[in-house]
Amino acid sequence: MVDGTESESRKLLGRLREAMATDEAGQARLDRITHLIAHSMGTEVCSIYLFRDSETLELCATEGLKQESVHQTRLRLGEGLVGRVAKSGKVVNTPDAPSAKGFRYMPETGEERFSSFLGIPIQRLGEKLGVLVVQSRIAREFSADEIYALEVVAMVLAEMAELGAFVGEGAALSPLHQKSATFRGGTGQEGAAEGHVWLHEPRVVITNPIADDPHRELERLNEAIDELRVGVDRMLEMSQQGDKEQLQVLEAYRMFANSKGWMRRMEEDIARGLSAEAAVEKEQSQARARMEQVQDAYLRERLADLDDLSNRLLRILTGQGKQTGAELPADPILIARNIGPGDLLEYGRSLKGIVLEEGSVGSHAAIVARALAIPLVVHAERITTEALNGDHILVDGDQGVVHLRPEDSVASAFRDKMAMQADAQARYISIRDKPAVTLDGHRISLVMNAGLMADLPSLEGSGAEGVGLFRTELQFLVRNKMPKRSELVALYARVLDAAQGKRVVFRTLDIGSDKVLPYMKPTDEPNPALGWRAIRVGLDKPGVMRMQLQALIRAANGRPLTIMFPFVAQAEEYRQARAEVNKTIEREKILGHPLPEKLEIGAMLETPSLAFAPQKFFDEVDFLSIGGNDLKQFFFAADRENERVRRRYDTLNCSFLSFIERIVERCDQSGTQLSFCGEDAGRPVEAACFAAMGIRILSMRPASIGPVKSLLLRTDLGELRKIITDGRHRGVQTVRPAVMEWFGSHA
Ligand code: PEP
Ligand code: MG
Repeated sequence: MVDGTESESRKLLGRLREAMATDEAGQARLDRITHLIAHSMGTEVCSIYLFRDSETLELCATEGLKQESVHQTRLRLGEGLVGRVAKSGKVVNTPDAPSAKGFRYMPETGEERFSSFLGIPIQRLGEKLGVLVVQSRIAREFSADEIYALEVVAMVLAEMAELGAFVGEGAALSPLHQKSATFRGGTGQEGAAEGHVWLHEPRVVITNPIADDPHRELERLNEAIDELRVGVDRMLEMSQQGDKEQLQVLEAYRMFANSKGWMRRMEEDIARGLSAEAAVEKEQSQARARMEQVQDAYLRERLADLDDLSNRLLRILTGQGKQTGAELPADPILIARNIGPGDLLEYGRSLKGIVLEEGSVGSHAAIVARALAIPLVVHAERITTEALNGDHILVDGDQGVVHLRPEDSVASAFRDKMAMQADAQARYISIRDKPAVTLDGHRISLVMNAGLMADLPSLEGSGAEGVGLFRTELQFLVRNKMPKRSELVALYARVLDAAQGKRVVFRTLDIGSDKVLPYMKPTDEPNPALGWRAIRVGLDKPGVMRMQLQALIRAANGRPLTIMFPFVAQAEEYRQARAEVNKTIEREKILGHPLPEKLEIGAMLETPSLAFAPQKFFDEVDFLSIGGNDLKQFFFAADRENERVRRRYDTLNCSFLSFIERIVERCDQSGTQLSFCGEDAGRPVEAACFAAMGIRILSMRPASIGPVKSLLLRTDLGELRKIITDGRHRGVQTVRPAVMEWFGSHA
């Protein structure tokens, strides 16, 4: 390809395809390929370096360097020119390698004889696989055409690696997507699961990167592009009346779908010998590489649009994707970059586990996973690139760890752990109907958190005495339009029916911060957790709140009703909200609807300020519930969504427990009922400590009721309180070590 013509590059690709078609072992194939490339490019050297692990590159084949160095020479990411190419994902082209920045002399290869160096990253859709290098004795820069041709070759190599073409006897390279891999992410929902991978959006596998009839490929590309454009136009038509932002996104889509530059580059790729799908993927890979570098949020979004469009195009071209016809395995573990709550609900309880590449602890997906009690790991980086449909996979939601294609020893240790958990669950069933009375005779009421219809069967199964927190916003979050009042009435009535007279605390809409309704215009706030959320929205725009209050009263249909307002920061907010309830009651009365037999109106204590409200407030409010998730984030000024800080401060920190004690004292003075409904209430040791501080109602995930009750039954709260008080007197930061030691010897 000294002259860099298209036909030369096509010839090279043609030969590569022949190399791929032989049934040679992996190493022989790699050797043949380096020989072919060096010969076609007119260079003395061609080498292929592939990643051994995420940090190390290994020389896997070479034409022109010393053969003894194959599988011996290794470079760390960023080391030498090869390492630089791998790290930056960018081409290095220099006529004088030894004096180029970062050059590292590798005597074992004999490369000192070569002056020019051209290194091309081998990557596939943002996944770095290795580096392709050509070197020559004469000092020259490689032309743009030569670089382009080699990029095409690198892309084909990436596809071949993906298909396992370099695996086999003699190759030190283990097959991609066949190795075991462990991912460390964060806990979204506890629990352990074993199953098989189900990709929410399966990756498209290209089996024919090289094509020998460019005219046919061009035709295929044009047909696919036409289909894509029609699809985008249809989407645009359908959403003409819709949301402005959605329209903007679709307009941007249309712009890309008609982009001449994009088309031209793909046509050039095809002219050089790539198949239509390989051309799409090559451009997509480059867009992804750009996406990694770009800081500007707007530009990143546009690149993401292009990425999405490329995926659609690939699906059209290959017929793969959602219509693969693949069947959901019997024990599916869902893998996705991210997933919306609606999609997740559609899968429902059929899923054994969920692993998300992004996601966050408070995301809607996490909320739904929790409601369905499906183990969830979030932030499992690169899992969507590594996992393939049907792979064996273990999900440890407790530790936030995922084992993909695990070794047998790992799988059997994991099964032991699951069996132990199953034993424990069986033990909890035996205490399900027992009241939670501590050794020193304190009766603790254990109730559950809920929010979806899917939660309701747990009321029976868990032994919960009622629902201490019904998060009404979940019903709003999982829809794509505002629910109607009649729908809400039916829904709340079903909840009360299922509760069969047990108390249900309905929390009014808690939106804002991390909970953004898809059909409400998001407000651009610098600090949403401290912003316009929950009761603040309810009071400023009372329409939705009134509709919800009406729906609750009608659903109660004469039965007792308990309403709780979220995020009350000062007494006046509670008073205003209560006044709204009274007004609604009056209106309902006039309309002739039956009124609740008993009405309790409470507030959530989620901001430290409310703990210091005037005593009058404590007298007025029917009950208070500590929303520990929010309260803790504001008490320690540590964002509950931020992995870096969210675990930094211990719930058993003396300051926090003293604060809880203060709230208990204030409620005791006024005889106000107090509960705790944040996640910590479901952690047995924390729950016991809250009980020791005087909290008598704990609301938690249904799955936590058994473990919490089991510990409470074995605990003397008076003794535990002494341990806590003693720790505080000693001036420790957290009483956890002392408490754990005490539990170790007493409970
Ligand atoms: C809390 O903040 O503790 C709480 C229960 O509410 P949410 O987690 O829904 O914000
Ligand atoms: Mg809250």
